[in-house]
Parts: sequence; structure tokens; C-alpha cells
Amino acid sequence: MGETTRWRRVKKHLSKIRIPLLTLSILLVLPQLLTSTRLAAQAATVPGSDIEVVDSTASYVFGQEITFSLHATAEFAIAECYLFYRAKDEDLTHTVALDFTRSREIDVTHTHNLRTSPFSPFISIIYWWQIGDEAKHKLVTDPQSLEYIDDRFEWNALSGGGITVHWLDGQRDPAFGQTALDIATTNLPRINVELQAPIPEAIHIYLYDSQEQLQSAMQLADREWITGQAHPEMGVIVIAVTSQDGYGTQMMRDIPHEITHLLICQTVSRDAYHYVPEWLDEGLAAANETLPNSVRTIAMEKAQISGDLIPLSDLCVPFPPDPQVTTLAYAQSASIVKFIRDRYGAEGIRSLLKAYAQGASCSTGVEQSLGLSLSGLEMTWEASITPNAEWKIWLNRGGFFIGLLGLGLLLSIPMIGFRRSGS
Ligand SMILES: [Zn+2]
Repeated sequence: MGETTRWRRVKKHLSKIRIPLLTLSILLVLPQLLTSTRLAAQAATVPGSDIEVVDSTASYVFGQEITFSLHATAEFAIAECYLFYRAKDEDLTHTVALDFTRSREIDVTHTHNLRTSPFSPFISIIYWWQIGDEAKHKLVTDPQSLEYIDDRFEWNALSGGGITVHWLDGQRDPAFGQTALDIATTNLPRINVELQAPIPEAIHIYLYDSQEQLQSAMQLADREWITGQAHPEMGVIVIAVTSQDGYGTQMMRDIPHEITHLLICQTVSRDAYHYVPEWLDEGLAAANETLPNSVRTIAMEKAQISGDLIPLSDLCVPFPPDPQVTTLAYAQSASIVKFIRDRYGAEGIRSLLKAYAQGASCSTGVEQSLGLSLSGLEMTWEASITPNAEWKIWLNRGGFFIGLLGLGLLLSIPMIGFRRSGS
């Protein structure tokens, strides 16, 4: 992980030509090696090169800028220098040609403006340099990593089972971190029994103390995040635990919820994650919370009574911002997921995710994996939550046709009378 396709290709290519390269290297480099031992140990070099990286660093001011610096020397004047950097696991690589005066020793810096081109917090930024001298020697350094953390705060950390929990230093006691870690380590395998996702090498959970702190971090990253949000494609979860006394209760809801998003993303892959309909992604996450949510239960009961359930097709896309509608959307989605689990088992859930991983649309995913249309799924689910009311739903859905039938009957009565009188 963390290497570009390009870098992998370079390595693959190098491994293929390793033996001829080695022979050539000995012949060409030996005389120079006798007089100079300055070859950079960590760098990939072209034979004959003695370009050396004295220092390569990156530092940042959170939400403002990242500064990359390089100090390099060479036997011949350095003629070109490029900096490459990108967020780990992202495809977009920034490439910068550094401006400097040709010399056997260079000090260059590049400043990346995070206000105009932000990176998400809590990710790794990978960077490397390419340096060439006037004699056409070239050196490509190994990728280095910068951990871009919200360093406006001091963080405590506690690790176990491949998960690291981070919380604000001085705000909470060690029991806070331990509770979060225990909830995460118990729920990850529990949730994955159903999803069977490849578990990321490392999962990091960052716990802010207030919604404002989390929001400000996300605004600096130009992202709109709500209560708790996973950065699933990067193995990062960020949550604001606002409750002081009952924090365990909130963690039992939010941590399994966000772990579910992360595992769904792992199951279908980062590139296909956007194909997973909202009702399935949020429904699984809400259904995996370890404590029932009475607000959602009430919202759904009310909507059932008033006939205001949200059509399932409206839940394929991101939920509307209206908090009341969102609560109902979560409640319905969780209920539909539980219904699918009961009827089709974990196999049904995995089959749905497989269809979306292959790019199925919201409705074709349901058709391919459950053998039902989206409205068929909606009808059977509605019937399941309305005991002894299959006929009501049938009536509701069939109302138009029943009306037509009734109208037909009404129209046919005078005609029958006319026939009789005429006969
Ligand atoms: Zn969610």
C-alpha cells in the first residue's frame, strides 16, 4: 500500500533488469566508488550518479500550508529537481518543478497552500523527489510519509487488535480511551462476520470532544462532515463524542456505525463505494449500532401511522439535510436491512454488496441479488412491519386498478338495464 502504480512499475522494471544493471554498475561505478562513498543509501540511482540527498523533510501548519524541503549535493551541477506528492491511496499526484540556480549543492522548498487545495486530516501524505545533474545522472528518492494530523490539539493514543484510538489530551481520562478501544475491538469482528471484508492493516479512530472542534477541522479540510464520519477509504474514523457522563452509550452507537462504513468500503473497494445505495450503506451502519435508538423507532412508528414513509427509491441517494427526514431515513434503512437479513441472511447482504461492487444501479442491484424489483422489496418489507396488513398494502398499491374496475362496473350497470329493456 502507499506506492503509486508508477512507482510499482519502476520497481518491476528495475527487478527485470537487475542482473545486467548490476554488471554494468560494477563496471561503471567501481572507479568512482573508490574515490567517493557518497551514494545515498535510501535512493534509487542511475549508474554513475553520485547525487546525494543530505536532507529531505516535510512539515505543516494544520489547515494552512505544507512545506517540503530538500538539501542535495552532487559531483556535477544539479540541473533539475522535481517534487511529487499525494494523499496515500489517492490517485492524484502533485508534480512540481523546483526553480533554482544550477549548482553542485541545492536547497529548495515548495509550499503547498492547504487553504486553496486542502487535504483531509488524519491521512498520510506521500512524497518523493527526482533530481538530475548536468551529466544526465538521475536520482529518484524512496517515498517518504508525512502524517497530516490535526495538531491544534495534543492527542493521547491507545492501541490493540490493529486499532488505535486517539483522544484529546487533558480532556478525558484513560478510561475514556479504553472504553472506545474495547468497543471497537469487540465490534470489528462481530460486524465482519456478515460483511467478510478484508480488514485494513491499521484502523485509526479520532475522538473529538465537541462537534465544533470536529467541524472546524473538517472546514479547514473543505469537507462537510456530520456527527461522526468515517474516512473509510483510508482506514480513518473521526467522531465527536459530546456526551460527558454517558460517553459509553454514544460510543456504542457511533463506533460500530462508522466501523460498518469502513468495512463496506473495504468490501466493495474504494472505487465502487459510491455505487452502494444510501439505504444499504446507512441501513447496515445503523442496524449495527449496539444500542437501540428510540428517536428513530418513534419516527418510523409515526410515519407508518400517518402513511408518510419515504419511498425506497428516494433512499438510494444521499439523505436530505432536514433532521426529521434524516432520522426517518435512517430508521427505514435500518429496518429494511434487518428485513433482508431475516429473509435472505448474511448471504443476501453480501450478494447485494457484490452487485454494487460491480457497478449495479440501486434497483438492478436488488433485482440481481434478491430476485425482486426495488418496489417489490419495498412492498414485502412494508408488509413485514405491518402485521396482518398485507391486504392493506395490496389495496394501497392496487387502489388505481381497483378504482378502474369499480368505474367499469358502474358504467356497465345502465348498459345491462338498456339491453334488458330492449330485449
Ligand atoms: Zn453513517
